[in-house]
Amino acid sequence: MTTIMKGAEVAARMREALERDLAALRRRNIEPKLAIVRVGSRPDDLAYERGALKRFEGLGIAAQVFEFPETVDQESFAAAFAGIDASPDVHGILLFRPLPKHLDEEAIKKAIDPLKDVDGMSPLSAAKVFSGAEDGFAPCTPSAVMEMLDHYDLDPAGKNVVVVGRSMVVGRPLAMLMLMRNATVTICHTKTRNMEEICKRADIVVAAAGKARMLSPAFVSEKSAVVDVGINVEDGKLCGDVDYDVVAPQVSMISPVPGGVGAVTTSVLAKHVLKAADLLNRRRTNFA
Ligand code: NAD
Repeated sequence: MTTIMKGAEVAARMREALERDLAALRRRNIEPKLAIVRVGSRPDDLAYERGALKRFEGLGIAAQVFEFPETVDQESFAAAFAGIDASPDVHGILLFRPLPKHLDEEAIKKAIDPLKDVDGMSPLSAAKVFSGAEDGFAPCTPSAVMEMLDHYDLDPAGKNVVVVGRSMVVGRPLAMLMLMRNATVTICHTKTRNMEEICKRADIVVAAAGKARMLSPAFVSEKSAVVDVGINVEDGKLCGDVDYDVVAPQVSMISPVPGGVGAVTTSVLAKHVLKAADLLNRRRTNFA
């Protein structure tokens, strides 16, 4: 029997810990708050924003949207972003990316206070993830994959893990998180040869290529646990990078799309905001 790894179950379990951590912060008079910074109104961003606001409202954590017109110029946007970043009431910032082409995204990524970088977008956050620093934030999606494995008691230690995709948002940080948990990690990408064979030998395969249903039964074995990060739209319907209907019966564990990793990311975002609020408060106290 294949175990279906359901995002909603992971999020429900995380909720208990989040409520406990929020209560502990409130006892220290800290009221955590997320700033969502959006330029323009791409449908994907709006969908994620709605999900995040709903999750935060459900948890009783403050979240404020800062919306900018698509035409905002670099100088005004950088100044406004710096203002949000400097606000003592804001503990975490989620910036929707990519920014419009005329804006200097790299400069904005570098400008964020690393302790407020709850979606791990800055080079410093990436370095912290790569070096295993305790106060660093990985992007929410790879962290959500780790939460999912933990929830289903799938310890990556000593396992062969294959990550398909090498982006800075998903593939690479995920490979580092797996390595930190003592997995033996292989990263596959567009130039990888014999990918089917490499994936088939793995204990855990994470698909993060952004290619609808590319992972066929040829990539898995009956012992495989398959985590699907992909979000694709095919004929108006959401689907992952895994050809779910034919792969699911052939593996030991699998996460669906929708209803898998995507349902965990906003809980991770909340977890990161609470951690940021704690770290920022300790920094303030230390320097007071
Ligand atoms: P990306 O396009 O930046 O990177 C895709 C990576 O996959 C690249 O490194 C590329 O080398 C590799 N790749 C592409 N086609 C491949 C192939 N045929 N074989 C092997 N490797 C291949 O995408 P991304 O931002 O990393 O996102 C990956 C997927 O995850 C997308 O579908 C995206 O929508 C989804 N995503 C999901 C969430 C979530 O919350 N579930 C969050 C972010 C991204």
